Amino acid sequence: MDSPPTDLYGLTRPELHALVDSWGFSGDHAALLWKHLYLGLAGSFEQIPELPARVRSRLASETRIGTVPVSRETASGDGFTRKFLLALPDGERIETVLMRFTGRATACVSSQVGCAMGCVFCATGQMGYRRQLTAGEIVSQAVHAARALRAAPGPHRLRNVVFMGMGEPLHNYDAVMRAVDILRDPSGLGLGAERITLSTVGVVPGIRRMADEARPAHLAVSLHAANQEERAEMVPAARKWPLDELMDACRHFCSRLGRRIFFEWALIDGRNDTAGHAHAVGRLIRGLPAQVNLIPLNPTAGYSGAPSRSEAARRFQRILADGYGLPSTVRQRRGIDIAAGCGQLASPR
Ligand code: SAH
Ligand code: SF4
Repeated sequence: MDSPPTDLYGLTRPELHALVDSWGFSGDHAALLWKHLYLGLAGSFEQIPELPARVRSRLASETRIGTVPVSRETASGDGFTRKFLLALPDGERIETVLMRFTGRATACVSSQVGCAMGCVFCATGQMGYRRQLTAGEIVSQAVHAARALRAAPGPHRLRNVVFMGMGEPLHNYDAVMRAVDILRDPSGLGLGAERITLSTVGVVPGIRRMADEARPAHLAVSLHAANQEERAEMVPAARKWPLDELMDACRHFCSRLGRRIFFEWALIDGRNDTAGHAHAVGRLIRGLPAQVNLIPLNPTAGYSGAPSRSEAARRFQRILADGYGLPSTVRQRRGIDIAAGCGQLASPR
């Protein structure tokens, strides 16, 4: 059987050059192709007329530009958030969110179809795990977002990519890191280390590997509770990777890379938003170069908790700042009306 055509969005620039070189064509063609893929955002070989016909026909027979067609697009009443349900070649679907802020735009990409980690308050966890995404399918989401931006008024350049969509990125380590390498290529989308954030439920071996390999991306760790028992109730993966091992891995990440780390905390009314909880997280992470992102809980079908009130969020922030010198932000609620907020992404079969 013939091998399936190579998805060009899954190749790093050196790999693309090696492929074109192996066919006996000049590196100039590879450079031109790369430019059209990531700066021209070409969706087909016909959109690259500068390539000689013989190069194009070889490309068309052995490779493909893995675009992800939109099966549904929704726009939030907030005017800044759009959600795309994207179709994959095998019939699975994933969601990608594009958020515009003043002068900048962020794509929130998925790393898996579904998720195996089962966090109780997360719609992706509630749907279960279906499969890993390939690097090409991840890159393609960012390219799709870049195309959508180019076609709309407002900021044209995609500035940030966050792996906060469906799935657990460190449970799909190799494909995610390959996608990071492609996204950050300076002659392509050019998203540097400062512009890419991976959010993890706390996959300890993945955090250690990221540190040891000095991967160029920010890391955000979803904490939600400051002791093992409470955390394991919300985040079942904590049973496999207990809090003390997680904190050791976070310290290793910061000291090894000399970088700060982010902690995420879904603020749930009465459950993890009291002054006592704020002090507990302050004690847990004090001393680390950390910033806390507080996310008032977004509604999902399978979980009945409510978001914290804004006074509780403010008190939480004050305790972190005054008691422990920890900066924090409260995530702006965006796209909740179209279920595009954190933890709300899911895909029908
Ligand atoms: N799997 C990764 C990234 C995807 S979720 C992770 O868990 O970190 C991105 C963030 O949204 C995580 O911090 C996650 O805990 C949080 N989240 C999940 N469900 C949520 C909900 N219903 N409301 C608010 N935040 C939620
Ligand atoms: Fe998976 Fe993250 Fe959702 Fe947990 S919060 S189920 S790790 S996507």
